[in-house]
Amino acid sequence: AKTLGRSRYEFFNVELRRRMQRRLRLEQDLRDAVRLGKLWAAYQPVVDLRTNEMVAVEGLLRWTHPVHGAVPPMEFIPLAEESDLINQLGAHVLRITTQELAARRARGIDVDLKINLSTRQLDDPALISDVEHALHTTGLPANALCLEITESALMRDSALASEALAALRELGVRLAIDDFGTGYSSLAQLQRLTLDTLKIDRSFVMRLGESTDAEAIVTSIIAMAHAVHLTVVAEGVETRTQLNLLRDLGCDQAQGYLLGRPRPAAELWS
Ligand code: C2E
Ligand code: CA
Ligand code: CA
Ligand code: CA
Repeated sequence: AKTLGRSRYEFFNVELRRRMQRRLRLEQDLRDAVRLGKLWAAYQPVVDLRTNEMVAVEGLLRWTHPVHGAVPPMEFIPLAEESDLINQLGAHVLRITTQELAARRARGIDVDLKINLSTRQLDDPALISDVEHALHTTGLPANALCLEITESALMRDSALASEALAALRELGVRLAIDDFGTGYSSLAQLQRLTLDTLKIDRSFVMRLGESTDAEAIVTSIIAMAHAVHLTVVAEGVETRTQLNLLRDLGCDQAQGYLLGRPRPAAELWS
């Protein structure tokens, strides 16, 4: 038993060290990728459920690592969030997506842009001027830009974040609460935040048509959002059944693999 314990300990030790080394290497590689402008954005359509038209796209960050290939945002965003890197990365996303979208709008493609903001960016004093600069240099109208912030990031009680949100609203950009349903916000909090859009988390959309509970939850989220005049977007729509149910329940917009996967701008608008 003693030797078993010891070899187990060594196994975990080796495993832990291996993971930490991968992390450290990835973080250094990410730093280089940001500096060299190697990160790019894929765009996923957001469709209006009444007209079936693409009304917006969500810009999603992509990193093609020279050795590991595509590294998912779920892996590298948290890495960036643990360091100052997230702010540079956020500024980069803002720059490239506003540029790409403004270029399409100049060709008559009338779609809005949605991008994700991380918690740390809300505390970054440079955020407001970065947004202002991106709008100014590309000519993208402020109301064509929607910044998505997760429910958990919004519910954090931060004075800096509240100031940033007020300043963003002052600029005229739109604000969305992302991954809604995963936190515990109340109707009162939703109202106080004065947002424009609410995105229902994929975990609820996924179970639509399979569980009556999910349907009840989605119904009440839509009612709650509409009560405070928010546009409701459902994310992660993968089936016809889900799409039809969402439309019947009065959901305004939808996004998901059924309607289009995230793709490079040149492919989406080829
Ligand atoms: P999110 O903001 O909730 O973005 C939606 C995610 O769901 C995207 O994953 C998208 O590809 C995926 N998705 C869309 N439709 C479907 C579907 O029908 N089925 C399934 N299974 N998935 C679907 P992705 O691109 O891997 O991004 C993951 C998360 O990483 C995002 O979740 C967001 O929180 C974060 N992220 C991505 N880009 C950025 C960025 O530029 N800045 C920040 N701060 N976070 C980002
Ligand atoms: Ca999002
Ligand atoms: Ca989301
Ligand atoms: Ca999500």
